[in-house]
Amino acid sequence: MTEETAASLPGYEHVYSGKVRDLYAPIDPATGASDPTRLLLVASDRISAYDWVLDSEIPDKGAILTQLSLWWFERLADLVPNHVVSTDVPEAVAGRAVLVRRLEMVPVEAIGRAYLTGSGLAEYVERGSVCGVALPGGLVEASRLPEPIFTPTTKAPLGSHDEPITYAQVVAQVGERTASGLRKLTTAILARGNEIAAERGILIADTKVEFGIEPDGSLVLADEVLTPDSSRFWPAADWVEGRVQRSYDKQFVRDWLTSPESGWDRRGDQPPPALPQHVVEATRDTYVAAYESLTGRRFA
Ligand code: ATP
Ligand code: MG
Repeated sequence: MTEETAASLPGYEHVYSGKVRDLYAPIDPATGASDPTRLLLVASDRISAYDWVLDSEIPDKGAILTQLSLWWFERLADLVPNHVVSTDVPEAVAGRAVLVRRLEMVPVEAIGRAYLTGSGLAEYVERGSVCGVALPGGLVEASRLPEPIFTPTTKAPLGSHDEPITYAQVVAQVGERTASGLRKLTTAILARGNEIAAERGILIADTKVEFGIEPDGSLVLADEVLTPDSSRFWPAADWVEGRVQRSYDKQFVRDWLTSPESGWDRRGDQPPPALPQHVVEATRDTYVAAYESLTGRRFA
């Protein structure tokens, strides 16, 4: 897949592949040197769950994530600068790639939570706090938090799992100035996201953002933002505290993988099985629905 794409991208050199995105550097035709300041960020149709890249792809997912991120970048531009340089990209990756500034990435997964679920809820039940953030008593599955909180994790290398860390640990790793910027921007992005999504009947329970850092220390929003891969979207009309919400994200895939039907052991070391066609189709439908509900545009 990556190699095929590389062959159809003359003028670019493959630099890295994450679980979902492939990164290429433009090559200067005059010198043959690769551009150290730019990257072509190509979103594939790969899907990951529980830190595994699945064998199945979700048709159009790369384009949906790319278009939705671009839509959000515009709506967050007054809060935080972003990495986008241009959407004028080679035909082979049209719609699912963006030319971006090549940044030094902050080695922390910046997670914000506005509602309690998943690993955040599990940590709260055990300790009454999430990543060292004390929370009021009596919260349950899907409870709305008094305000968005910053619950960072380590950015683990491919194949291992991200671990929750406290704000103090982030300070120890990246310094006070960067840590406070990460916390402020992550919670502001989630709050703005929820303001806009609320008008469209969607709640954003939590989200993960990634930042690059400039030589002068300022932060730049990179990667993707407020997509179904990086966030949990819930239909607001169905929201009921105390039970697991239906979601517009890959919770559907997670649920199938952890159901008896998949036969897969999440805690084991075996890769997950391929998704059945009905799960692939339902997942594509939820990605399209998330894009269309949020943007008010048809996904063509
Ligand atoms: P990882 O790369 O850690 O495995 P991932 O699997 O989620 O995480 P992808 O989203 O598939 O990663 O790939 C995107 C990669 O590109 C990430 O490593 C991300 O940090 C990096 N990235 C995103 N935007 C930029 C940028 N502007 N400059 C440099 N790197 C970037
Ligand atoms: Mg990513």
